[in-house]
Amino acid sequence: MEEVKKEVTEVTVQKNFLEEIIENDLATGKHSSVMTRFPPEPNGYLHIGHAKSICLNFGLARQYGGKTNLRFDDTNPVKEDTEYVDSIKEDIKWLGFEWANEFYASDYFDQLYEWAQKLIRMGLAYVDDQSQEEIRKGRGTVQQPGIESPYRNRSVEENLNLFERMKNGEFEDGSRVLRAKIDMAHPNMMFRDPLLYRIIHAHHHRTGDKWCIYPMYDYAHGQCDSIENITHSICTLEFDVHRPLYDWFIEKLGIFPSHQYEFARLNLTYTVMSKRKLLELVRNNFVSGWDDPRMPTICGLRRRGYTPESIRAFAEKVGVAKRDNLIDLSLLEWCLRDDLNKRSNRYMVITDPVKLVITNWNDGECSGATELETGRIEYCTAPKNPEDPQAETRTIPFGRELYIERSDFMEDAPKKFFRLKPGGEVRLKYSYIVKCEEVVKDENGKIIEIRCTYDPTTKPGAGPWRSVKGTIGWVSAAHCEKIHVRLYDRLFTQADMGGIPEGEDYKSYLNPESLIEIDALAEPALMEDDSAIAVQFERNGYYIKDRDSKPGALVFNKATGLKSSF
Ligand code: ATP
Ligand code: MG
Repeated sequence: MEEVKKEVTEVTVQKNFLEEIIENDLATGKHSSVMTRFPPEPNGYLHIGHAKSICLNFGLARQYGGKTNLRFDDTNPVKEDTEYVDSIKEDIKWLGFEWANEFYASDYFDQLYEWAQKLIRMGLAYVDDQSQEEIRKGRGTVQQPGIESPYRNRSVEENLNLFERMKNGEFEDGSRVLRAKIDMAHPNMMFRDPLLYRIIHAHHHRTGDKWCIYPMYDYAHGQCDSIENITHSICTLEFDVHRPLYDWFIEKLGIFPSHQYEFARLNLTYTVMSKRKLLELVRNNFVSGWDDPRMPTICGLRRRGYTPESIRAFAEKVGVAKRDNLIDLSLLEWCLRDDLNKRSNRYMVITDPVKLVITNWNDGECSGATELETGRIEYCTAPKNPEDPQAETRTIPFGRELYIERSDFMEDAPKKFFRLKPGGEVRLKYSYIVKCEEVVKDENGKIIEIRCTYDPTTKPGAGPWRSVKGTIGWVSAAHCEKIHVRLYDRLFTQADMGGIPEGEDYKSYLNPESLIEIDALAEPALMEDDSAIAVQFERNGYYIKDRDSKPGALVFNKATGLKSSF
């Protein structure tokens, strides 16, 4: 007992390295409160990797009573759009987070420009007239120092004048840049006179045509953090080489000392995550759009039937790593199943039907029964969700003619097959036990009807319970409703898409069977379901009503099966 208790305490106090840093900063008084930010570039839709970053940034702030800003990193007008801004906001809200402020890097363009002038005055920045190619060549390599630009020693006045004229639109794209003047032989390539501004004559989705010079990521990001008093600026591992430069600007400008911390980006098996590749999938019609249920985008996952709860649980389980790794997609699916199992309504749906006729159904009398052409109808009652004691019930009509899954019947069944077989008995879920008496086939030998008798004493709740080994699903032929079902599978056939992060030939791994469309037969109560989350097709999997549904023509997307398919 002692030992168990100790172990539990240790598990609960186990902190990730970011929590440790934050707690230390608060304890030492380095910061009195926590301010984080989520800084998406509005050039695409958010994906599950971003969700990880959102849960981390918003989650840490929430945990320590702090706040999180949403800051759009809109420094490249060519690729950005308000369409993306809107979708990003929608997705963050849907995940269950609220930002303290909505900011844009472009809000700070005036301030950033002033700071660039300040760096020029300090002798720490200059206008370079070299071509892009010359600048690239001059940078040297890791083994070889770079070469100083012939424009590096311009006077402060000349630099201020040229920089202003860059801003005023006097020069063409690519003809000049503003660079920091640091050290062309620095072992960290980031310090070899990094670019601060480039000329781009393009319309910006927020600032319009006011600017034709735009700050580079390295020049903008830390300063934006600093303006917003961000205490912990969390980003992915590949930015660790940028950190010294981030600190350099903040130190030279003497502004609020935001600090950058890196964690490993999320990579998932069977998934590509870079926005460029996701855009390619959309543009080449490999998927139906950004919200195709096979996409790892948040809107795609939502349409697939993922819940915010399941995504947040996944982010929690993945944890915060310091080393790049590849997470199994089945963990994400497990989190979804775990959530839906607790919350989702159950319905019987038959995807590959074969008719089952109860030949003795109309023998004798039964009080309270109504008459249809097919005969007597009875109603079974079942909980919508057996995991939830408070769940409502549903009413399922039962009659002489039913449909069951073709795979639930086997003519030459092995001993261990406990579903329906000739001469065998099975319970129809929520209803009677039936016995297979005869099989009817068409001229090709395909089974078209299974003739059974039922045992009237086996109605659940009426008399002693008789057990049989197998239970199968069914729908009433006279009452079932046809629905359209999209069976989704992994978009790619390969777990490791050529490296971490994924390689370039990912398109050769596209799964040709990632979408199969079928019709299925559902119990009528499914038509009225308004739970707004995925439902369980019993003994099959979780499915969510798609927005393509029309009255009388419902469409369901498969979220995941009941068990891991891996
Ligand atoms: P991509 O490389 O796909 O274009 P990005 O990193 O450029 O993505 P941003 O919009 O700049 O996309 O990202 C916003 C935030 O989300 C950044 O802080 C970034 O570090 C984080 N992020 C992006 N991808 C992942 C990922 N796979 N795992 C964790 N965090 C991520
Ligand atoms: Mg980025």
